[in-house]
Amino acid sequence: MLVDYHTHHERCGHAVGRLEEYVRAARERGLKEIGLSDHQPVLHIRPEDLLPEVAMPLEELPLYVQEALALKEKYRGEIEVKVGLEADWVAGYGEQVRALLAQYPFDYVIGSVHFLGDWDHTDSRQLAGWETRDVLTTYEEYFEQIRAAAASGLFDTIGHIDVIKRFGYKPERSWEHLLEETVVAVRDAGVCVEVNASGLRYPCAEQFPSKRMLEMMHSHRVPLTIGSDAHKPEHVGLGLDTVVALLREVGYREVYGFTGRERYAIGI
Ligand SMILES: [Zn+2]
Ligand SMILES: [Zn+2]
Repeated sequence: MLVDYHTHHERCGHAVGRLEEYVRAARERGLKEIGLSDHQPVLHIRPEDLLPEVAMPLEELPLYVQEALALKEKYRGEIEVKVGLEADWVAGYGEQVRALLAQYPFDYVIGSVHFLGDWDHTDSRQLAGWETRDVLTTYEEYFEQIRAAAASGLFDTIGHIDVIKRFGYKPERSWEHLLEETVVAVRDAGVCVEVNASGLRYPCAEQFPSKRMLEMMHSHRVPLTIGSDAHKPEHVGLGLDTVVALLREVGYREVYGFTGRERYAIGI
């Protein structure tokens, strides 16, 4: 029985479909649990300087949580609805995120590094940012922020941990040392790492993280969560069968779910 711990919906502006459509899609696909995890409102860029359609405005957050909690009740007994958030790690903003998270009864929080400063390297509209940056240096900066996110203690699972590869920009020299350092850091932090199937649909053409990184995680006994990163209801659960097959091949026999920010094992 599969679970999907990474989904979005129309409030962020770049996904489509109401929350309930995601819950229904998950139920139709026979998922046991669905995690609702829309993007955190952006805190580190002033609204007037932010591109449109990045994340919900701050005033929408209580409405999102309220609606998600109502769906949890409505579908109780049919499918477990988990109320989460995909939060952003941005250096210098940890305390603001901590204060925001403390206001809501989340089941779990994903910590993702979408931004290096004001640059959103996951946004296909901002690919020009690569033209002025050295790829290996950018990878180093990215994984340094991932390690800081893991160590912050703010998050239950680290989202799409090697998403810096999403659009196919890869350093000419080896970056394996960055992966090793990062795996050790997440192991030391005791946080889960998400295996995110959406990479299969992007130019990098593989899940986040790579099989190599998953093997390192397995040898360090890093616990995992899984998610589709669906931005439309028909993508709920998409690619997770491929991900689970890979995890079994690497040696994993369980992933983790969350209730009230406490994790529990789910056999795969
Ligand atoms: Zn998104
Ligand atoms: Zn993300």
